Amino acid sequence: MTLRIQFLAHPKRWEEYRAPLPRALADAGLAADLACDHPPETVDYIVYAPTQEPIDFTPYTRARAVLSLWAGVESIVTNSTLTQPLTRMVDQGLEDGMVEYVSAHVLRHHLGVRHRPDPKLSDWVFTPPPLARQRRVGILGLGALGQACARALVQIGFDVAGWSRTPKEIEHVTCLSGETGLADILARSEILVLLLPLTPQTEDLMNAATFAQMPRGAQIINAGRGALIDDAALIAALHSGQIGAATLDVFRTEPLPPSHPFWREARITITPHIAAQTRADTASALIARNIRRDQAGEPLLYLVDRTAGY
Ligand code: NAP
Repeated sequence: MTLRIQFLAHPKRWEEYRAPLPRALADAGLAADLACDHPPETVDYIVYAPTQEPIDFTPYTRARAVLSLWAGVESIVTNSTLTQPLTRMVDQGLEDGMVEYVSAHVLRHHLGVRHRPDPKLSDWVFTPPPLARQRRVGILGLGALGQACARALVQIGFDVAGWSRTPKEIEHVTCLSGETGLADILARSEILVLLLPLTPQTEDLMNAATFAQMPRGAQIINAGRGALIDDAALIAALHSGQIGAATLDVFRTEPLPPSHPFWREARITITPHIAAQTRADTASALIARNIRRDQAGEPLLYLVDRTAGY
């Protein structure tokens, strides 16, 4: 039987996937007809990435699953028309990109590379930065991406702690969880990396009260989602010196509007949501593998827990 697979994403994504995805489906031994315009009631699986308008999944009466090309699923998990199982993207390309982004910016903050000696002040000899093993880095979120980053930072030599909802054990990483765990990781982190999904529990997690629990001058790297941070509280914490600097890849509104106060803060580094991208070749392999598993009666990989929201 030929499976009908609907590609529901921005047309730019279609250009990226129209060759690698059919190839991956064929490599997985699946006979599949991939298109953007199948009549909804004939579709067996939906490959999805966020679109401008929310999708009404109601007409997809025979679809067995929705397979997201994105790791973050906050824009679809609350869609009440979605009744099918939803999987999220866990991709080696995504993981490698995030490890590179987080390692680079943690090192940048650690080494204080923004500092440029002033020739008039003859401050050529300034206090050298500590070694990585003397620097405490925290990671909020120890999922696929947080764990990969934690391991890479341990390799460099940093003193790494991580925080998750459920307890974890990761070699050479101080693993914390729950409310007391949050207080502990905030209190110890000179550099804090946010790699949490956006859910009702994580929205505005970094606010005036949580910034105040961090060491004075701590630095923040947000590669999770913009709304993990209360924007006004971050600006106030930068002005008071409680937070020393921030690198932000994600924002409540993207692109970040020209009038947003973040643009006026010299100590905020802005990157345009480029920390990690799903790579079409490796992502196609996971989509094909998951459809093959479902066809064989095996459980889908990386199923989203709709109650937890990620
Ligand atoms: P994941 O595997 O689902 O991991 C999420 C982690 O967050 C888990 O460790 C989870 O805890 C923890 N968590 C969730 N809710 C929590 C809570 N209320 N309290 C404490 N910990 C909580 O996700 P991932 O693949 O690592 O991706 C993380 C996020 O990165 C995505 O959701 C997306 O928003 C973002 N992202 C950004 C980019 C970019 O380019 N900037 C690219 C890809 C992804 P448990 O382990 O206990 O479940």
